[in-house]
Amino acid sequence: MNKKIAFVLIIIGLLAVSAVSAQNLLFLNNSDDSMYQVSLMQAFMHGEYDGVITVGDLKTHGDIGLGTFEGVNGEMIVLDGVVYQAAADGSIKVVPDNETIPFATITRFNEDQKIPTITAKDFNDLTSQLDNEIKKYGPNNMYVVKLKGDFSNITVRSVEKQEKPYKEFTDVAAADQKVFNHTDQTGTVVAVYFPKYMNELNMHGWHLHYLSDDKTKGGHVLGFNNFKGSGQIDEIHEFKMILPTDDSFAKMNFTENMTSKISSVE
Ligand SMILES: [Zn+2]
Repeated sequence: MNKKIAFVLIIIGLLAVSAVSAQNLLFLNNSDDSMYQVSLMQAFMHGEYDGVITVGDLKTHGDIGLGTFEGVNGEMIVLDGVVYQAAADGSIKVVPDNETIPFATITRFNEDQKIPTITAKDFNDLTSQLDNEIKKYGPNNMYVVKLKGDFSNITVRSVEKQEKPYKEFTDVAAADQKVFNHTDQTGTVVAVYFPKYMNELNMHGWHLHYLSDDKTKGGHVLGFNNFKGSGQIDEIHEFKMILPTDDSFAKMNFTENMTSKISSVE
């Protein structure tokens, strides 16, 4: 074989190997049946607000989810692969890839079930209907539900960026929570559900974040009136979690039961 042909064959071989590994990497990161969580809610509740991974890294693990930013700098809504920040001044921004995240849950949305129409008079009505819906498929799975539609009004909150030393989240919510009430809204709610046995890692039940269709309003959902729309359900059977690497997390005391504190603010 002459040198030129040998060289061409080596190049083709190298390209083939790199294409296969790129595909494997894509497959690993794009698993559509995995919930990826940054830190645990219990650490977050104790004031663990330093970033663990970047927005750019987070986006390789999914395209829908919720969370917050370093220092609890507003509420995170991930929708269609875009990471939005609902800031404490009420504005919505698309977040650059180098921002960091202390807490988030994200997955790659894959519709398993449809809710063709859903009407709910308020938050509790919606979550009890969602509870009934997922009972059909099993309350021990994790779920992300994408709800699209109209609200006669919706109340969302965001939180002001914190400076160190960080307060516990119940104190942050008491002192620095900003509440917004928006009327005649059309948008999407990202609803994340964790089963009861995961209460030590996140919280049992539904956690809702909202983003308006015009991408000008959003945040953590505290309440609403008169939702009319439709839903898509993603049933999830795999869970991955990345922990903070700092000493304050490694030595944190988790003996306190945080369930009532979490349900008071989340
Ligand atoms: Zn939230």
